Amino acid sequence: NQTIILKSRPEGTPKLSDFEFQKDDNTLSISDGELLLETKYISVDPYLRGRMSDAKSYVPPFNLNEPITSGVVAQVKASKHNNFKEGDYVSGMLAWKTQQISNGEGLNKISPDRAPLSAYLGVIGMTGLTAFLGLQEIGKPKSRETLLVSGAAGAVGSVVGQIGKILGLRVVGIAGTDEKVDMLKSDFGFDDVINYNTTQDMAQAIKDTCPDGIDVYFDNVGGPISDAALFSINRFARIIICGAISVYNKTELPKGLSVQPFLVKNSALMQGFIVSNYAEKFPEAMTQLSGWLSEGKLKYTETIVEGFENTPQAFIDLFSGKNKGKMIVKA
Ligand code: NDP
Repeated sequence: NQTIILKSRPEGTPKLSDFEFQKDDNTLSISDGELLLETKYISVDPYLRGRMSDAKSYVPPFNLNEPITSGVVAQVKASKHNNFKEGDYVSGMLAWKTQQISNGEGLNKISPDRAPLSAYLGVIGMTGLTAFLGLQEIGKPKSRETLLVSGAAGAVGSVVGQIGKILGLRVVGIAGTDEKVDMLKSDFGFDDVINYNTTQDMAQAIKDTCPDGIDVYFDNVGGPISDAALFSINRFARIIICGAISVYNKTELPKGLSVQPFLVKNSALMQGFIVSNYAEKFPEAMTQLSGWLSEGKLKYTETIVEGFENTPQAFIDLFSGKNKGKMIVKA
């Protein structure tokens, strides 16, 4: 049995040496009410970076020398729990361990017949819910409006853009490579996409690709890209602050544009979003996402990294954009 613990709190971009592998040859045995789980897929997510710091946030920080936890899909190997039997698949917030014991709390039974197991960590998991609920609840999108999405080729962004298209909006994305730009246009139906790494003047590029201005901006990245978007917002624009990955590794907070004049001038709304605030809407959102998926209206892509031992590297690679769609480790 292997475990990955947080060895040190990362300074700047996380390094492999911030993590440590621990090996244990003891066989795990379960008591009444428990089940033994074998990890199949691990979700690595940008928000975990925040939990690796000890700054106060909406979820408590990871403790040093303890296992990292994230979304995991696991198979029940043995059960003394009434609700689970050997062979069942579950998803839940679990430790970065190849095997672990659980009392079943917080686990959802999932079926590989309904969707591939890895999808429960992405499009019909936390990231799909984030895309759907962030866009609906704060974005309140209306047909024919313009939606701009940053981090568009990632897990959340690629779903946001597609939902925008399903709802009849004009959708423009921002992503980091030409390959991602092509993918978003040809596979996911985005109307236009900007490669921020090859664009000198982002404010101008956003103006050019959003000629009617921006009604909804779904922001996954923060920083200068998001500052540039403010120059094109329309009256009553809605700005969903879902994430700020460009800032997560900064040791000093970057100085940006003063956003207030843009918001005042346009009577615009900018609101931070945490998916767990909307837990009561998960069942409804999940039904909609699964429906679109089975109708073929919603597609998804994943970057699957093979091998439990590559989990820390897969996490680190999120910050250099190595993933298209959801980054997942196959244990
Ligand atoms: P992604 O799949 O989008 O992976 C991260 C992507 O971010 C990379 O592929 C990279 O793509 C892009 N990126 C990395 N560094 C930068 C940078 N400096 N500037 C611009 N883009 C960068 O991750 P998720 O979809 O899981 O998450 C997207 C965002 O949503 C994150 O900020 C995350 O924290 C947030 N989130 C928030 C939730 C909430 O409840 N509020 C829940 C889930 C996610 P590229 O090649 O385009 O640069």
